[in-house]
Amino acid sequence: MPLRIGLFGGTFDPPHVGHIAAAVNVRHALLLDRVLMMVASDPYQKSTTRSITPADARLAMTRAACDGVPGLEVSDAEIVRGGQSYTFDTVCDIRASSPDVEVFVIVGGDTAARVETWHRWRELAEMVDFVVIARNDDELTLPSSIKWTRVDTPIIECSSTDLRRRLREGDDTTHLLPRTVLGVIHARHLYEDDSSRQQVTAGTAK
Ligand code: ATP
Repeated sequence: MPLRIGLFGGTFDPPHVGHIAAAVNVRHALLLDRVLMMVASDPYQKSTTRSITPADARLAMTRAACDGVPGLEVSDAEIVRGGQSYTFDTVCDIRASSPDVEVFVIVGGDTAARVETWHRWRELAEMVDFVVIARNDDELTLPSSIKWTRVDTPIIECSSTDLRRRLREGDDTTHLLPRTVLGVIHARHLYEDDSSRQQVTAGTAK
């Protein structure tokens, strides 16, 4: 039997309970052996529009978020590879190192709608199963050129954008961020103001 690996990529700036709940629920729904939480080195579709927290800090927060959660594994493969983070390259690397593996690329509904803008998405769609996280009543607009597996699951309403704002303004985040993640944020003085973040460019992520 091939290993069934979920690939849940993100900027994770910061990672929140919505990410963790989604990854755990998809793992159970699709009987995945594990879900790789892939921290983007340079999330090229975001880094041209806003400043991004350095990759090592996002990696530390994601490790803290997944600490002790069975079946979730944090990967630094895109950070080690450096440059712009393309899921196509990541999947090629996974398959090169473990040929007997089935890869499930997991995305939220907002990301799913944009998959046709991804680097080499047609080839990627031939290589993996695309999984979209949705609520029972969600009407999703999904690219019809791709065959989707839809996992209906409770979704925790939160986003990293909202959390960055809350942290900057001193609002409560305790119900949305694992305590371990808050520990990293406080220790590294992240999100206190815009100077704690930087524009990530190829090769400067580490
Ligand atoms: P931002 O607000 O900065 O754009 P984000 O909260 O969407 O960030 P990302 O790291 O960009 O977080 O997202 C990684 C993946 O997680 C994407 O596929 C996104 O659709 C999905 N996702 C984000 N928030 C949630 C949530 N609350 N529940 C389920 N999936 C989510």
